[in-house]
Amino acid sequence: MITVEEAEKIIQSKVKNFGIENIPFDDALGRVLAADITADRDLPPFNRVTMDGIAISFDALENGIHSFKIIATQAAGYTTIDINDPGECIEIMTGAALPATTDTVIRYEDTIIENGIATITTPSVTKGQSIHLKGKDKKQHEVVAFANELITPAIIGIAASVGRKTLAVKKLPRVIIISSGDELVEVNEKPSPFQIRRSNNYMIKAVLQQYCLHADMQHLPDDLEKTKKLIVKCLETYDVIIVSGGISMGKFDHLPQALASVSVTKLFHKVQQKPGKPFWFGVDKNDSLVFAFPGNPVSTFMCLHRYFLPWLCASAGLLIDKEHAILSEDFSFMPNLVYFLQVKLTKEKGKILATPVEGNGSGDFSNLLQTQAFMELPAEQNNFAKGEIFRIWPY
Ligand code: AMP
Ligand code: MG
Repeated sequence: MITVEEAEKIIQSKVKNFGIENIPFDDALGRVLAADITADRDLPPFNRVTMDGIAISFDALENGIHSFKIIATQAAGYTTIDINDPGECIEIMTGAALPATTDTVIRYEDTIIENGIATITTPSVTKGQSIHLKGKDKKQHEVVAFANELITPAIIGIAASVGRKTLAVKKLPRVIIISSGDELVEVNEKPSPFQIRRSNNYMIKAVLQQYCLHADMQHLPDDLEKTKKLIVKCLETYDVIIVSGGISMGKFDHLPQALASVSVTKLFHKVQQKPGKPFWFGVDKNDSLVFAFPGNPVSTFMCLHRYFLPWLCASAGLLIDKEHAILSEDFSFMPNLVYFLQVKLTKEKGKILATPVEGNGSGDFSNLLQTQAFMELPAEQNNFAKGEIFRIWPY
């Protein structure tokens, strides 16, 4: 049995770059950017008026002119119109390009317009006001979003503004989720009094969807030969196999034997943790990975968040923030195992508090709805005091 840190290290040593693909920018939300996005021209691309009002030359105002003859109206999106005389102004709209012969904009609220003459009614006008200068935000060719960033709605907006119809994003691994067990029936089937519906696979699929990863699914009965056959087939097609169940000590837990006989090299089996102790991890000759999680729903869920997702993010080059929370009450756990405690998270004055809500063990997946994270409590400590800070794995 190995430690959580050793297991993490082994898994992280299998981080792999799956390459790059180009996709439409408006389909890229939640993906990881594979190349910098640069500005195709200055941002803003022209001196942009930021208020509806009049454009004047500030010198005129300094020379005592307060009333200006309106010689034209310029809307956003149209060619600039110049003034020919300091006593003239242009009525101008937000988003319009500032005419080169003007340098200051006075908003309508600070003017009175009568008979084609605009009179300024405020004493406080500064040169260059209400103008967003060309190139103030970014210069042409400057990077606006960096590679390895998660694509957010703001990045989609920026991509649109700089004319990027497609974006280079990190390719995702091809993943299959395999549920296992004779006691499991499909969601639309009626279980006998001794059967249950399979749910882990759907839970895993849903978690992966949050990372834009659309995994396939298969189900395995507790049968050694069928297990071998399916694993061999999946290794040909997929980069990752995620199995739930069939790796413990039971007479019908055939996976470790099946994986060994189809030449998947075991990198570890069993981790000093609760839940999820029987976790099995291995690799085949083509570098396809097998994450085999114990079937209890909470064990599967924990292992997915603690081991698979960090591997997935690292493979995409994405740095994830280490999150921590403050224990809100004393807690004890005696066995020398890392304990992944289910906690309810609350925020108090900017701090995250974690309250233990233990539930009824690793089979109690309804408890996951009452909690929002696993808190990772170290193995070498048994008593955890209110106020201590530990790492959390939010779900
Ligand atoms: P196993 O790891 O195969 O011994 O399974 C441990 C427990 O998890 C058993 O009670 C199984 O019925 C349950 N289990 C295994 N796979 C699933 C699944 N896909 N959905 C729901 N429960 C499962
Ligand atoms: Mg089973």
